[in-house]
Amino acid sequence: MEHIDLGVWDYDTVSNTFTVSDAWRQMRGVDRAEQINVPNDEWLNSVHPDDREKLKAVFRGQVEGNSKSIVIQYRHRHKEGHWVWILCRASVMATDDEGRPLKIVGTDTDVTHVKARENDLRELTGKLQLAIAASGMGIWEFDPCTSQVHWDDKLLEIYGITDGQNVRSEDLWETYIHPDDLAKTVAHTEACRKSESDINCDFRIVRPDGSIRHVRSLARSVARPNAESKLIGVNIDVSEDYFRTQELELARRQLEHDSRHDALTGLGNRRKLNEMTLDLFNRLGRTDAYVVMHIDLDHFKRVNDTLGHAAGDHVLAVVARKLMDLCEDTADVFRVGGDEFTVVFETRPSDQELERICEAMIRSLSEPARFEGNDCTIGASIGYAVGQGPPVNTSEIFVNADTALYAAKYAGRSCFRAYSREMEAAFCQFENARQDLIDAMANGQIICYFQPQYDAHTLEVVGAEALVRWRCPDKGLLTPDKFLPQAIEADLLPDIDEHVLRYVTQTQDEWAAQGLLYPRISVNISKARLDADSLVEQTRDVLQNHHLITFELLETAFLDRIDTQLAFKLDALRDMGIRIELDDFGSGHSSIAAMQVVKPDGVKIDRSLVEPLTTKPSQLLTLRSLAKIARLEGAAITVEGLETGIQLAAIRDLDCDALQGYTLQRPMPAIEFAALLAKNGMCQQQA
Ligand code: C2E
Ligand code: MG
Ligand code: MG
Repeated sequence: MEHIDLGVWDYDTVSNTFTVSDAWRQMRGVDRAEQINVPNDEWLNSVHPDDREKLKAVFRGQVEGNSKSIVIQYRHRHKEGHWVWILCRASVMATDDEGRPLKIVGTDTDVTHVKARENDLRELTGKLQLAIAASGMGIWEFDPCTSQVHWDDKLLEIYGITDGQNVRSEDLWETYIHPDDLAKTVAHTEACRKSESDINCDFRIVRPDGSIRHVRSLARSVARPNAESKLIGVNIDVSEDYFRTQELELARRQLEHDSRHDALTGLGNRRKLNEMTLDLFNRLGRTDAYVVMHIDLDHFKRVNDTLGHAAGDHVLAVVARKLMDLCEDTADVFRVGGDEFTVVFETRPSDQELERICEAMIRSLSEPARFEGNDCTIGASIGYAVGQGPPVNTSEIFVNADTALYAAKYAGRSCFRAYSREMEAAFCQFENARQDLIDAMANGQIICYFQPQYDAHTLEVVGAEALVRWRCPDKGLLTPDKFLPQAIEADLLPDIDEHVLRYVTQTQDEWAAQGLLYPRISVNISKARLDADSLVEQTRDVLQNHHLITFELLETAFLDRIDTQLAFKLDALRDMGIRIELDDFGSGHSSIAAMQVVKPDGVKIDRSLVEPLTTKPSQLLTLRSLAKIARLEGAAITVEGLETGIQLAAIRDLDCDALQGYTLQRPMPAIEFAALLAKNGMCQQQA
């Protein structure tokens, strides 16, 4: 016994002696020399307090003869201070006649390490149970020998089963699987069982209350000695993950869609167009022909400016719908810019068919769109190009369609053109003309002539209108009708207006340097210049206190609504000392409604209203009515275009302030106007 580390003890109740072996002592770190007493209260003090009472009771019971043999585990304090787990087995070896024990012999085993392992195991099991509970896994176990499955409570909960039946027949599970997932799931499970590989699949279940959940099933077969393998598996309710993934997928798809579509019209955007055409080019055979069509809306900006952005948006949405309806299945429509659309025909329609489509588009788009009681009228210019086979240069077809579009616009808008090589020459010409104008400004060829304006009563010079001229080295002096249409086409009109203002202020500086007392000079301001965001800043940049400037607003026919941005601009200009006048008053270019919006300091009655005076004296009545309207708004009145003495005589009775016309003076170069001023005594010396 000593050899197998068993501590042996012997208790003689007659002599009341307690004898222990060396191993008993070693277990507890007790020295050989130390006397071991009969287990008494003092001895029990070195037993763990939690085990003390139990040990005492068992030992007493044996000494009193109640039990022949006992087995007990308790903790005994080692001499070094730590606890030693003792497994004690004791038997009564001899008794007296009354059955009271005379001799009890026991063996003690140090089971501390076993206890530690048991403890570790208990801890691990606890952790595992916690983890399983937290994971929400339901566990099942299938024994093929009994064809029964054990479902734990969590699994029953996942399946919405409330009968508490943990042991269930093998095929019951299948009755819960969603009919659409049943075949696939059963096939997978069967295949895994056959090959003894792990089951791993997702499927839907229908709970008894009809609700649908997404379940992930994982299972493995576990080999057993002398029996067919068991299947152990878990089910996890992954519905929330599934729904979240589904939502994420939807959001991802939405983002993907948004990045390729225009939010306003729902049409594909430029990115989508690029992808679509690249795909098309890859699919094209050598003889396959296709068409790219560019559509640009005419006067769209006007709708935006006069009726507001909501009206503009409405018009774009209507245009998109019309284009889609017209193209039906024959082509794809894209919105590639503010008011620019592209249509791609993967298969080339016949020339007649293309013409028919273009005509239908122009007709349909020029029909006014109603918005909040207003008619929004726009037009459309179309250019298209035909391509054949995979292109060497993928952007060429788009450039060609653009060239054709430009040709349509140049031909007067609201029409269509098919690309041709000759167009390119025309386009080059346009580009050259544009560059020529830019160069002309830089080289000082764009100048002004000044047409004097006279006081209607005293006929003194009270002002002049600056009229732009191009002193062209090849063609001589060009009037605005020779180059402003090209400037408009090339979007250079605002630049020309700015250039003219600089020219006029510089000229006033020169006149001031010559000691001349110059009058107010009127410069013409186109609608495009008035709309430019930079107008106020650039004017402030140029203007100094001594400059005397009037802005004649052209094309004011569309200024018939209060526009806060315009009001702000006009106020800022007036703060700089600029007078504001409406040009061409009474003609189609200027409206009476614009009076209310602009509240001009003056108006210029248009030449077209003055001209009939020569033959029709009653025209004076029309002029009088116009003058009255202007006066009601407190505006000064200039009559322009007085070409003949008859006209001049006729307006003598008209209530107006200033006169301008060939019969008084033709437009003249700055130097001549300066001479006129000097001749009229407008010099500082004389003042
Ligand atoms: P507008 O502003 O109404 O200028 C008056 C035009 O009438 C000038 O023509 C002037 O020479 C012409 N005119 C003056 N008196 C008579 C007359 O008795 N009989 C006739 N038949 N014509 C007369 P111009 O210089 O050819 O300018 C034409 C138009 O070009 C201007 O009309 C104006 O709309 C535009 N324009 C001129 N300069 C500029 C400019 O600097 N910027 C802008 N945006 N437009 C300008
Ligand atoms: Mg004018
Ligand atoms: Mg005018």
